Amino acid sequence: TTQEDWSKSDQYHNSFLLPDDEALEFALKNTEDNGIPAISVSAAQGAFLNLQVKVLGAKRILEVGTLGAYSTIWMAKALPEGGELISLEVNPKHAKISSDNIAHAGLSSKASVLLGPALETLPTLSPSPPFDLVFIDADKDNNGPYFQLARKLVRTGGVIIVDNVVRNGRVANPEVNTGDILGVRKLLQIVKEDKGVDATTIATVGDKGYDGFMYIFVREGI
Ligand code: SAM
Repeated sequence: TTQEDWSKSDQYHNSFLLPDDEALEFALKNTEDNGIPAISVSAAQGAFLNLQVKVLGAKRILEVGTLGAYSTIWMAKALPEGGELISLEVNPKHAKISSDNIAHAGLSSKASVLLGPALETLPTLSPSPPFDLVFIDADKDNNGPYFQLARKLVRTGGVIIVDNVVRNGRVANPEVNTGDILGVRKLLQIVKEDKGVDATTIATVGDKGYDGFMYIFVREGI
């Protein structure tokens, strides 16, 4: 089975389950047209995040790593009136294009981009009201500290989702020791030692190849 087959598989399912969305298509194209790499979540993964917002009844969402706001828009469009999404991004060009894409989607009253290194912006965020959902998808080397900082902002019963924790199996291969892979291993150790969370990794294959989400339920939050 080739990557092309997995992309076709995603497209087949999406053709039944996902409605066309002009704002999401615009965000992808505008991001690409501005020379920003195509490393957003897949449509199916975006829809999964959107469903999480609904299941949790989330009113406050935190995202680490905006890129062109594709995942941002998927989540923000499920927010109720008065809901808020804050997305952290270090690259000024990415932040600018994201703000344009959020505005095009008509979501500027709900979603905003906070510019700066997430290790610096995370500690400035207010935990009141606490966040219901966090999506971590930035520089993978810092997955451990991002989880630890975000965890302090999440309510009891909230969820933290971390992307790219499988990496085609490389996380489990002891011969691979790049910064991104070490970042996921560090996260696994931190989550293991955290007695207030329950978590699992779901490996996925589709439009973005072989990878996976870590899904962390915060049993003891704020
Ligand atoms: N969540 C996006 C989506 O699915 O549409 C994709 C995010 S992309 C994989 C990762 C983003 O994290 C990039 O835009 C990158 O500039 C940003 N990033 C990298 N290091 C960062 C840091 N230290 N703080 C905040 N953002 C960072």
